[in-house]
Amino acid sequence: MKIAIYPGSFDPITKGHLDILKTGAEVFDKVIIAVAHNSSKQGFLPPDVRVKLIQESVSHLDNVEVDSFEGLTIEYAKKRGAKVLIRGLRAVSDFEYELQLSQANSALSEDIKTVFLTTKPKYNFISSSTIKEIYLNNGDISKFVPEPVYDYLLKRKVC
Ligand code: ADP
Repeated sequence: MKIAIYPGSFDPITKGHLDILKTGAEVFDKVIIAVAHNSSKQGFLPPDVRVKLIQESVSHLDNVEVDSFEGLTIEYAKKRGAKVLIRGLRAVSDFEYELQLSQANSALSEDIKTVFLTTKPKYNFISSSTIKEIYLNNGDISKFVPEPVYDYLLKRKVC
């Protein structure tokens, strides 16, 4: 069984992430989308909320599991029996960082390979940080995030 991990901050999950995940789920037998968090760094949303919003957004994908982890991605991958990491590429600007990250991971563990996927052009420019910026400035994020994220952020604003 080919298991892949899709690690990231997902703070919050966007339609770009979902598109990458959908492709990953078509290519691999199982994909574990894993929220990477660092207890000394506070994100926009707490990790447990990010996990819950992802779970609600991926319920239609049968071979996808949602989890979270702290520490090195390769250690988490080994623990889960995965030999592939999925990462997304939007533009050349992502490439340099992603290439370095994948090479660092290969240097730490030769067995684990990184696979890069791209999204449909309409989701290509979406990033969690752009979404946060639009949301915090009262813009409409409904086109860019899955419904559970939109509903959660809308309620959070009203409160
Ligand atoms: P990280 O903090 O690890 O970069 P992110 O949640 O920002 O976590 O992104 C996780 C992965 O998804 C990264 O590989 C990122 O490049 C990719 N990604 C995010 N948004 C998109 C998008 N719109 N299209 C393609 N890949 C994306």
